[in-house]
Amino acid sequence: MRMYDIIAKKRDGAELTFEEIKHFVTGYCDGRIPDYQAAALLMAIFIRGMDKRETAELTAIMADSGGKADLSGIPGIKVDKHSTGGVGDKTTLVVAPVVAACGVPVAKMSGRGLGHTGGTIDKLESIPGFRTALPIEEFLENVRVIGVSIIGQTGNLVPADKKLYALRDVTATVNNISLIASSIMSKKIAAGADRIVLDVKTGSGAFMKTLEDSISLAEAMVDIGEKTGRRTAAFVTDMDIPLGYAVGNSLEVIEAVETLKGKGPKDLEEVSLELAAKMLQMAGAGSFEICRNLAGQALRNGKALEKLAAMIARQGGDPGVVENYNLFGKAEFTCDFTAETDGYVEAIRTDLLGTASMVLGAGRETKESALDYTAGITLIKKTGMKLDKGDVIATLHTNKREKIPEALRIMRQAYVLKPERPPLRPLILAGVDSEGVRVF
Ligand code: URA
Repeated sequence: MRMYDIIAKKRDGAELTFEEIKHFVTGYCDGRIPDYQAAALLMAIFIRGMDKRETAELTAIMADSGGKADLSGIPGIKVDKHSTGGVGDKTTLVVAPVVAACGVPVAKMSGRGLGHTGGTIDKLESIPGFRTALPIEEFLENVRVIGVSIIGQTGNLVPADKKLYALRDVTATVNNISLIASSIMSKKIAAGADRIVLDVKTGSGAFMKTLEDSISLAEAMVDIGEKTGRRTAAFVTDMDIPLGYAVGNSLEVIEAVETLKGKGPKDLEEVSLELAAKMLQMAGAGSFEICRNLAGQALRNGKALEKLAAMIARQGGDPGVVENYNLFGKAEFTCDFTAETDGYVEAIRTDLLGTASMVLGAGRETKESALDYTAGITLIKKTGMKLDKGDVIATLHTNKREKIPEALRIMRQAYVLKPERPPLRPLILAGVDSEGVRVF
């Protein structure tokens, strides 16, 4: 089998066989296929697409490319949750303790930031002492004892995705439904959960900009999950507006803690409780309504906050952070971003908000960049809110004073102001499962 023929076949729009996809993935992983041929095939796939069979087979081959987590030692149905990524998305920090507090184990492997903002692992590492690189036995023991643990992906989990993602990132082939779906689902399958709940983000700060494309991505991932024997359900949620008001690693942990105290932003609480309820329902805890109530109770009675504190303590962090936010430290410089005219916030380019937070130090400019955990942005005005000239729209936090003018310039582009109040769209736009798509 020749890689040249596989590239030409996909370039001409034909379907690849299982053997051809396997030849590509395994050959690229073990170094027999060079970057330029792999890149050519990725671009052919990007332009021509893959059908459901090809996408499911690509996923299974990638999932088999390295080790797999064995969660069978943890009693009960294990449900994983994954977000396709967005600016200010700290739902995992709320959802995981809520679900664990309701008695369903959460053994979660999360990623670092893709694109400009920190990922869940970066956010957790902003907690002094918190360890995200635990041996697998310690991870499983934590879940057995307290019901929840979140760690970074272990070294040999889906090495094919590590190599392919790095190549996609530099060859403009990230934003393709089959490639995103196989990348995410291969990691979910290898991470060992029985059921999967997906939060597919849609809008300016997401991989998929339109609702239609986001629903297609959700359908592709649900299809892969079901084909590989993992019940999978997805929500499509809005990323034209950041969730909550905090963007930046420790700022987001603090906001998640406030939410677990029942004092967080309503949008973050709402999306987190819906996701938690879906996870509980899929774990067999009852109807969606019953699970929604259970999740709400765990948040109101403080049990979910206790779970977060317990997880922090077991993973070497200082659980005192949930009461004393000063333990996170503070950025040396703050600067207010203010309104130049009266009006309403018509829209926020959340992708630019991510760029501004990265410039301030909260995200990585290159893979090697060190994060500044205290840097970021606190929003005060979000889409639909009224502004008077001079009002503070957001506060920037950084230790690099010289970066403030650039961040302010990006913030001006990110905020679109209009004289009239804009219509608002719902936070949760669609639900997708094996029974089909519901648009809300
Ligand atoms: N997240 C992933 O893990 N992979 C992608 O391709 C896109 C988002």
